[in-house]
Amino acid sequence: MNTNKFKWTNYHSHTQFSDGKGEAALYAESAIAHNMYAYGFSCHSPVPFNSGWNMKYENLLEYITTINKLKKKYSAQIKIFLGMEIDYIKDITGIKNFAHLNLDYTIGGVHFLGFFENGRAWDYDGGKPFYEKGLNELFGGDIKRLVKYYYQQINDMVINEKPDVVAHLDLIKKYNKGNYFFNESEKWYQDIVSETLKVLSENDSIVEINTRGILKGLDHEFYPSNFIIDQCKERNIKVCMSADTHHPNDVMALLPEVKNLLTEKGFKEVFIFDEQAWHPISIS
Ligand SMILES: [Zn+2]
Ligand SMILES: [Zn+2]
Repeated sequence: MNTNKFKWTNYHSHTQFSDGKGEAALYAESAIAHNMYAYGFSCHSPVPFNSGWNMKYENLLEYITTINKLKKKYSAQIKIFLGMEIDYIKDITGIKNFAHLNLDYTIGGVHFLGFFENGRAWDYDGGKPFYEKGLNELFGGDIKRLVKYYYQQINDMVINEKPDVVAHLDLIKKYNKGNYFFNESEKWYQDIVSETLKVLSENDSIVEINTRGILKGLDHEFYPSNFIIDQCKERNIKVCMSADTHHPNDVMALLPEVKNLLTEKGFKEVFIFDEQAWHPISIS
């Protein structure tokens, strides 16, 4: 068998252990029904403060046991992998905090960008009004300062914690439809993104092409935006496909569209995780 041949995979998914809807087995069965080659679970890592959507520390062992059981149960039909979408929060938590778990792979994500005076963490992706609250109260309403801080956290995470995959690279644009907060074509933004891409390239990171924003009707481009995908190609940055699944029906949500886009843009390969390593496969 030509191991370099294209295969459908998705390594980014959330079950009811974090903020997904349904048991892990239902996701595995759906992936098998979609003839996927490999499927990875990546529930949100626990964080040391209250959060409405991260996994609880006390459920971590059960999560690992559950996924490992599925690996065996479905081994004749699909390759199942155990991962986690780990929150990077400077000086608080990151990928290294979970190194002892021996996960198959890690996805690093930045969802928290500070704490309000009452101690509540600011997850900037928790709705547009909440985004505006954080922008105003923690960044003095200065969108450039916020965006710069966000990408600085991504850079720090990549340099110091080296996750295998970087989650939804430009999620800071989540509520920016119609250039509501900023214009991605402005030089200051392009420069910040360019610096981050340099960091990704130097650290051999994998950027996921994440379909969640379009699926939720928040955007007309994936995470990251088309111009960033173009620059990934120019800089030879590795990419993988990701549905950021939160429901068993969505194990492959919009992945064919990602494949089409990458093919149109001239990408020759995407990265998949197989056994112990990430490696490229042909996109055609
Ligand atoms: Zn995420
Ligand atoms: Zn996710």
